[in-house]
Amino acid sequence: MKFSEIPAHESVKERLRNLVDTDRMPHALLLEGPAGIGKFAMARALAQYIHCESPENGEPCGHCPSCRQHQSFNHPDVFYSYPILKRGSEKDSISEDWIEQWRNFLNQDQWMDFKSWQSSLGNPNGQPVIYQSESAALLHKFSTTSYSTKYKIMLMWLPERMNGDCANKMLKLIEEPLEDSLMIFTSDRPRDILPTIYSRLQRIEMKRLPTEVVRDYIRAHNDLSDADAASIAHLAEGSILEARRRMADAEEGQRFLEAFIQLMRLAYQRKVGALRKWGDDMAKLGREASMRFFAYCENMMRENFMNNLRIPSLVYLNSSEQAFSNRFSPFINERNVESLVREFTQARIDIRENGNARIIYFDLAIRVILLLKR
Ligand SMILES: [Zn+2]
Repeated sequence: MKFSEIPAHESVKERLRNLVDTDRMPHALLLEGPAGIGKFAMARALAQYIHCESPENGEPCGHCPSCRQHQSFNHPDVFYSYPILKRGSEKDSISEDWIEQWRNFLNQDQWMDFKSWQSSLGNPNGQPVIYQSESAALLHKFSTTSYSTKYKIMLMWLPERMNGDCANKMLKLIEEPLEDSLMIFTSDRPRDILPTIYSRLQRIEMKRLPTEVVRDYIRAHNDLSDADAASIAHLAEGSILEARRRMADAEEGQRFLEAFIQLMRLAYQRKVGALRKWGDDMAKLGREASMRFFAYCENMMRENFMNNLRIPSLVYLNSSEQAFSNRFSPFINERNVESLVREFTQARIDIRENGNARIIYFDLAIRVILLLKR
């Protein structure tokens, strides 16, 4: 990782380079700030810069043996510490147990999506922790002779996830650092770090990314219109991860709109066979997504009724929803709006209670046929 691969944060980069170039690196450094802005990437670039055999213009060279080891996450003097799920007993659970998953995770991209890490650990709902045994493992690594470089560097992702015992042992390591050991921590929630540890770390705050940087990222990863990209970038508040979540929501919203339009068209034309096919396709969405779809339809019904009454919407309709609504809203009126909303609510309840999805979708479609004609 080079500094130049991380967007923005120029003053932080300058400060870090300066600490290294003037040999004033603190034993324990914390990079703090919101998730999804590049803190861990910065820590990686810093460690690589410290170890690089021939840094150039404030950057690690990228091709010396040390840089190559950094880039493949195999440097003998770099230790990664990160929250994990225990395998077997808590007493022997250390980050190293998950090193393969960790390398894959780092290879995915630089934005450190915690949800994606949870999935890598095999349980999307698991609560990863840095266990007490991790501190002993780190102490051992710090105390063995350095292989090739002056500094041994620990990079710890999310120190706020150390459990109490681990934090207390780490505190000792921070208070009495071993010679030539560097500890670099990156935290999304620094307030959750043990205060006695927090107060002993040299801290550098990293700010949210500029909106333009987030917008450029969205454009590079998505074919949203300029207006939609700008709107998501604005809402993402300088976090690439937040932008990604919102992009995923927007994509799902687009798919839901298409399915909603199809349902309304086919119901209006009373195409029962095609509606059965529609229901069979929709049933494949699964329970959670179906519940979100029905909620989406409930909302669309209310919005279209408001549009019909020419009451300015309180809820945001995007441009494609608005375009459809302009033609469709005359069909949603005071005689059918309540019943239509109720049908979608009922479908959501039925699917939540594990009803047969194909039957629920098809039943719903038939009722919509009748209600649209009111
Ligand atoms: Zn190098």
